[in-house]
Amino acid sequence: MSKLKRVSRSDRRGFLRTGLTGLAGLASAPLLGSLAGCQQLPAAQAGSKAAASASGQKGAALATEKLSDRITLITGAPGNVIALSADNGVLLVDSGAAGSARAVKASLGGAKVHTLFNTHYHADQTGGNELFGKEGATIHAHLITRQWLATDFYVPADDRWVKAFPKVAWPTETFRTKGETRAGTENIEYGYLLEAHTRGDIYVFFRDSNVLAVGDVASPERDPVLDWYSGGWIGGRVDAMDDLLKLANDSTKIVPAYGPVMTRAQLKAERDIMAHLYDKTTEATDHGRSAKDMLDDGILNDVGRKFEDPYRFLYDVSKGNWAHYTNFGGNIV
Ligand SMILES: [Zn+2]
Repeated sequence: MSKLKRVSRSDRRGFLRTGLTGLAGLASAPLLGSLAGCQQLPAAQAGSKAAASASGQKGAALATEKLSDRITLITGAPGNVIALSADNGVLLVDSGAAGSARAVKASLGGAKVHTLFNTHYHADQTGGNELFGKEGATIHAHLITRQWLATDFYVPADDRWVKAFPKVAWPTETFRTKGETRAGTENIEYGYLLEAHTRGDIYVFFRDSNVLAVGDVASPERDPVLDWYSGGWIGGRVDAMDDLLKLANDSTKIVPAYGPVMTRAQLKAERDIMAHLYDKTTEATDHGRSAKDMLDDGILNDVGRKFEDPYRFLYDVSKGNWAHYTNFGGNIV
């Protein structure tokens, strides 16, 4: 490991400590605006109409996959939703897009949702909050996720404003670092993943079933998304993936927001590509190279994965690097 890398990680960790004690200053973060859905997700798809058509007949149950006796993966909402069944009802991780909410509900076979976790604020993970909130679910999320959902914000990529959710859809239980809960006999741990995709990402770890929900912090099929306007960047992503690798073992079922269940080895492979690109892109940023320069330099060539929109990925990486240049020891201003 290079000296620069050690310094980089240390600096990023330093920011974590600062961030955790200085969250009051982030209360206005939503006003800075960002994307309503993942940057890879067309705006219309994150909305209700397209998502409803994507999920087939409105209200029809979605495809499911059993991950354990009590944990079911619901797919096509348009992303993944995890459902843990216990005697007193269901705990969900993410609620799908608004247009998929009834379909997610139909997939639960009439069981009541008593608890819902949001892995982050994007519309394709929180669109069902209103439905399940109205029906009495307790909604858990990082404090910053609630700030985004409770505030009108601007989406620079689309040049539009997104209205705050109605209060019933806001997370009711928030945290800053981590916590634990229990549903039936399942012990559940959850924690913050600083700036990995947004500024409010969390994991939810079903400890007894060994199922780890990681939201958009892993992206096995779609291009990894760095929502730089809300604080995501490639350095945060690498650190977060390292934290997830510490939680997982070779039997852990790792569930991303989109795509198939991953093994720890697959997560490690994706992390290694991100770490390589962290080194390459921060060095390039440090030398004043733009996203277009990086693309022309072939920075994504031979890294072990194909990118659907290489320029878009590098644009977001570059934006995030500029926003965090002090974290990697850069001297570019
Ligand atoms: Zn997302």
